[in-house]
Amino acid sequence: MKINLEQLVAYAKNHGFVFQGSELYGGLANTWDYGPLGAALKNNIKQLWWQRFIQENPHNVGLDSSILMNPAVWKASGHIDSFNDPLSDCKQCRTRHRVDHLVTKHDPTIDADGMSLEALDDYVRTHRLKCPNCGGHDFTPTRQFNLMFKTSQGVIDEAAQAIYLRPETAQGIFLNFKNIQRAMRLKIPFGIGQIGKSFRNEITPGNFIFRTREFEQMELEFFCQPGEEIGWFETYKKDSYQFLLDLGLAADNLHMRDHAEEQLSHYSNATTDIDYRYPWGFDELWGIASRTDYDLRQHQTHSKESLEYFDPESSEKYLPYVIEPSLGVERLFLALLFEAYQEETLDNGETRIHLALHPALAPYKVAILPLMKKKHGEQAVALHARLAKYLPAVYDETGNIGKRYRRQDAIGTPFAVTVDHQSQEDGTYTLRDRNTMTQIRLDEAALLQYIKEQCVF
Ligand code: ATP
Repeated sequence: MKINLEQLVAYAKNHGFVFQGSELYGGLANTWDYGPLGAALKNNIKQLWWQRFIQENPHNVGLDSSILMNPAVWKASGHIDSFNDPLSDCKQCRTRHRVDHLVTKHDPTIDADGMSLEALDDYVRTHRLKCPNCGGHDFTPTRQFNLMFKTSQGVIDEAAQAIYLRPETAQGIFLNFKNIQRAMRLKIPFGIGQIGKSFRNEITPGNFIFRTREFEQMELEFFCQPGEEIGWFETYKKDSYQFLLDLGLAADNLHMRDHAEEQLSHYSNATTDIDYRYPWGFDELWGIASRTDYDLRQHQTHSKESLEYFDPESSEKYLPYVIEPSLGVERLFLALLFEAYQEETLDNGETRIHLALHPALAPYKVAILPLMKKKHGEQAVALHARLAKYLPAVYDETGNIGKRYRRQDAIGTPFAVTVDHQSQEDGTYTLRDRNTMTQIRLDEAALLQYIKEQCVF
């Protein structure tokens, strides 16, 4: 049985994955804190993305650029002038709405992204669109709202310089293109990836962690020769999709949505979104765009520094074209929780919740459980201390063994090791598998080896 969004929010809170932000003070709308298990799951997601797209990829390298950047960056990138959402307030209930969302909700075949502010406003009025909150028809005029968070730097107010929190990590990569290419002596094609926080002053955040104002992105900018970009675009579509399948998302719940020509941004010659079937329907998980040389060209023009690449083989100079797969950590986190959550009724009538996460994603890889605290506790504590040097391991001695298994199942721990009478005699332990609930007996070296192998991604 699957759960709905509300139940998942409660589950995530009760099991230590995600808490409401600033809860003690009544919360701050749409902010979320990741508890011990949520932080571990997030780290594992990021680490596996890094492993797949940086570590194992012969073309790609990593970066960690700063969140605060020279404001000229956002002028050049177009974010200051055009990183806007169309917005309108319902005069009746005073709720705020994205007008493009109202339009596509009314008619999903319409490309609202491509409509002007006037056209959107006109559509709302001629079709008498309803406020999703109160059903009213009276909206304020549609206006643009810049999504960038603005702040100031410097201690003296008058001298303060307006700066922005980055709305994407990508620009930090473009700024370092030359530095990295030179320092690492890279030849085209190559990619630069990074993981980091981004901030967008979203008008309509919501759906739990799906759309928030502070989130993390895993982005790759892949630089290639002009003319070869569509081949690489197809490669990244395939590789991105495969990564999701390998993490355990079902093909049935994934949908590749190619943007039609009229939906493309002005700088893009191909874009595909990978959508996931969230409880409210298919929605964007991963955006993959072929961005031509737009970003490098903009930065070259605005900085007046050449960003051209010199190809030593052909002796040609050119601005590389770019493929950008951009994935949100929290959106993947949410998809993985939905996908992994399982509820079943056992033969004895009990309900068992288990989180069928890939072992590489699981917050704890192994739980160490003394069968009886008094008799086996000491040996179990010592075993936990030794295993914890190699793997995230948790020790639990409270409640009967069945309950402890259930607790670990519910948080996705793939293996439980029980220390019992026989362990004291021959140094072997039972190793229970979360998914099948079957048990095998192994000594310490063999069980460590076994768990490590199961956690390989
Ligand atoms: P949307 O259409 O849902 O607003 P977008 O097309 O603006 O998303 P991109 O700019 O392509 O998103 O960002 C790349 C990825 O970053 C998205 O696919 C998503 O996974 C993630 N992302 C973007 N905005 C948010 C947000 N407000 N909260 C959480 N994740 C986000």
